[in-house]
Amino acid sequence: MSKEIFSQPENSDYKNGLNGLWEKDKQKSLLYNKKIICPVCNSSFNARAIKKSSYRIIKRDSDFFIRYSIINPYFYDVWVCDSCGYAAIKNDFEHLNDYDTDIIKEKISSKWHSKNYPEVYDIDLAIQRYKLSLLNYYTIDARASKKAMNFLKIAWMYRLKEDTKNEMNFLIQALDNFNDAYYNEDFPICGMDRFTTMYLIGELMRRTGKEEDSLIWFSQVLTSTMASSKIKNMVRDQKDLIKDSLNDKSLDGEQSQNISKENKTHGLFMKFHK
Ligand SMILES: [Zn+2]
Repeated sequence: MSKEIFSQPENSDYKNGLNGLWEKDKQKSLLYNKKIICPVCNSSFNARAIKKSSYRIIKRDSDFFIRYSIINPYFYDVWVCDSCGYAAIKNDFEHLNDYDTDIIKEKISSKWHSKNYPEVYDIDLAIQRYKLSLLNYYTIDARASKKAMNFLKIAWMYRLKEDTKNEMNFLIQALDNFNDAYYNEDFPICGMDRFTTMYLIGELMRRTGKEEDSLIWFSQVLTSTMASSKIKNMVRDQKDLIKDSLNDKSLDGEQSQNISKENKTHGLFMKFHK
């Protein structure tokens, strides 16, 4: 029997399986249950919560996404009442008026089928729960800023999965809603002051290919006397990225023009020599 049989996939799968189990057990030890009373149906349920300081920050992206190691707090950001289907990002969960409660009962609870959520959540479940929360926000016609943050968080989850197409789709919708919130809501918006919100709008424009529009928002932050130097520095960094990318694009443009010129001359040349 050849050696390969022992050293090939089955072996590494087995190891990955063990690592996966070990990871899950470790994460389980970092979680606890928090008793919550659902404002819609009044039943009590256990929300999974992460013990303080059990995660580590690895990196912050320029649109405020935080990359964590050990355990990912975003996975546990949405609370879902399994009895009635009411879901929201945990900070919003308890803020619900009677009118919205009735709408959720009528439009969500009546169609809800209880789900058996596992003890440890993964990224796909996180996306599913964020989408459920978004459905609730749309059902009660929640403020644009709430939808915006929910869209943004889904985009971040797709970024973690390296699913660029979905990431872009959700970034675009986050941008639309932050734009709406900027013009129609009072500051702070999702905890951000006016200039931080402007920076984020500019940055989401940059990330979704609207670089020229992005520069307009960035310039407004830079010329304001009220914006903090911290946010101005962040703007400068992103503006430099746009300049580089626009330069690259115009270089590409010049190059392709030169190539087509060459082709044309070559074409002419060929004609004369036929
Ligand atoms: Zn409920």
